[in-house]
Amino acid sequence: MAQIDGLPPLSEVIRTHQLSAKKSLGQNFLLDLNLTAKIARQAGELSNCDVLEIGPGPGGLTRGLLAEGARRVLAIEKDARCLPALAQIAEAYPRQLQVINGDALEVDPLTHLTSPIRVAANLPYNVGTELLVRWLTPKDWPPFWQSLTLMFQKEVAQRIVAEPGSKTYGRLALLAQWRSTPRIVMELAPEAFVPAPKVRSAVVHLEALPAPRYEADAATLNKLVAAAFNQRRKMLRSSLKGIAPDLEDRLLSAGITPTERAERVSLEQFCALARALDAR
Ligand code: SAM
Repeated sequence: MAQIDGLPPLSEVIRTHQLSAKKSLGQNFLLDLNLTAKIARQAGELSNCDVLEIGPGPGGLTRGLLAEGARRVLAIEKDARCLPALAQIAEAYPRQLQVINGDALEVDPLTHLTSPIRVAANLPYNVGTELLVRWLTPKDWPPFWQSLTLMFQKEVAQRIVAEPGSKTYGRLALLAQWRSTPRIVMELAPEAFVPAPKVRSAVVHLEALPAPRYEADAATLNKLVAAAFNQRRKMLRSSLKGIAPDLEDRLLSAGITPTERAERVSLEQFCALARALDAR
């Protein structure tokens, strides 16, 4: 297979550095550099951007991002076994790759990055959704990032782009569509990864909006949609009981019938309810 750079093929890198995949770290590696370059292209124009990559592993996507011309890549990897392989990439791209060995849920990358910033990652499911929610719910907007290009299980990707009324509509769809435009840009079969996971995967690209679609406080909206979809089949007057003493009045003032179920309430209505809850 043609290489996108002069570095050894990823299968050789994995052998040389003995990077047997660890389940506890959600390690399913992409070894096809043409595929990782294709994912990197979904992230948009990179030559004038710093890219934050979470979980580079042996460096397949990292090499894709650099080969596609990223101005700089800051990669945060928890598994120290990957560092020698990443150091070899840093040598091939002098001053363009910085690697931090740490947990992406704890490291603050911002001091190492210069705007404009794009984020790209192929992460374990639980870390990916947690980071996505954090990136979507800072108090102020626009955020530090211009776009997020993230690999998820296909089922999670569908939840991010879901429409009201659909089975997959919920907290992720509302938070993502409130402040960004999310699109599924690629689908990958399990065989694209080593080892192959049980499910299909998909890449979601989210472009940050200059301002949220509707006014609302991020913390209030996040808490509200988490409560509403925790018991998605219940009427809002029961699933949201406890969120405010005069809940029914607040629902009505937001134009929502108290007997409505969360999956039928639009983003605009949830934002109106968040404002009504804050208007004390
Ligand atoms: N990007 C590589 C690729 O596409 O082949 C590796 C992807 S693998 C699905 C996920 C990577 O995230 C692994 O390298 C794993 O060690 C790393 N990882 C898992 N949890 C992490 C965390 N909390 N912070 C940083 N990296 C993490």
